[in-house]
Amino acid sequence: MRQLPDAGTVAITVDDAPMPDTMPAMLDLLDRHSAKATFFMSGCRAVAVPELVAETVRRGHAVYAHGWDHVRLDREGPQRLIADMERCEALLAKHRPTPDPYLVRLPYNGGWRNDRIHRTLAGWRPGCQMVHWGPSTEDHMISPRCTRPEDVEPECRREVERLLADPRLPGGVILMHDQPINERPGGQFKPAVTITLMRLLLEGLGRAGLASVVLPAAAPTDWWRRFALT
Ligand SMILES: [Zn+2]
Repeated sequence: MRQLPDAGTVAITVDDAPMPDTMPAMLDLLDRHSAKATFFMSGCRAVAVPELVAETVRRGHAVYAHGWDHVRLDREGPQRLIADMERCEALLAKHRPTPDPYLVRLPYNGGWRNDRIHRTLAGWRPGCQMVHWGPSTEDHMISPRCTRPEDVEPECRREVERLLADPRLPGGVILMHDQPINERPGGQFKPAVTITLMRLLLEGLGRAGLASVVLPAAAPTDWWRRFALT
């Protein structure tokens, strides 16, 4: 799933959420720009701040499981994959009905082209759909490039300007993170990068006349239905 039916819209997708020092600011920025986003939440993070899951839902954003632990679930056995997704979804389901069809993005986008993983996930939730992305903010690389706090804004601006020039942007699914989970050094700037990037991205989308909407599931008649896990 890479393109939305309406080229006047984009879907901001945020992986690895929610973190207590960035998520409230992101939600406020989204409100300020009348924008909606789709969050793929990590259970290991969400369990510590369930009130942020509730607040995200209350503000009209979509919330899906990104697994419990942030590991390559596609390299684990099917029982581990399903148990991990189910454990995270059980937590999210305390705050909103389980969506159907269910949109799935695994940690590190694992298994998105793997038939075995697709079959396993379809066994978990029939009709669930693996979602990919088009333009990426490449935000997991920004914090490691920063050596001083004042580096954050120009580094984020550079990525947003690149993204705004991407021909796939109209109707595109945009990838970003709430403080990406990775082992790269230089992670001390992650909170500032997440908030600054969201602000600059929303400002840029506004200038481009693109509205950020909740990522829709593919309709059965859409050509991109072929990405569905059926
Ligand atoms: Zn992730």
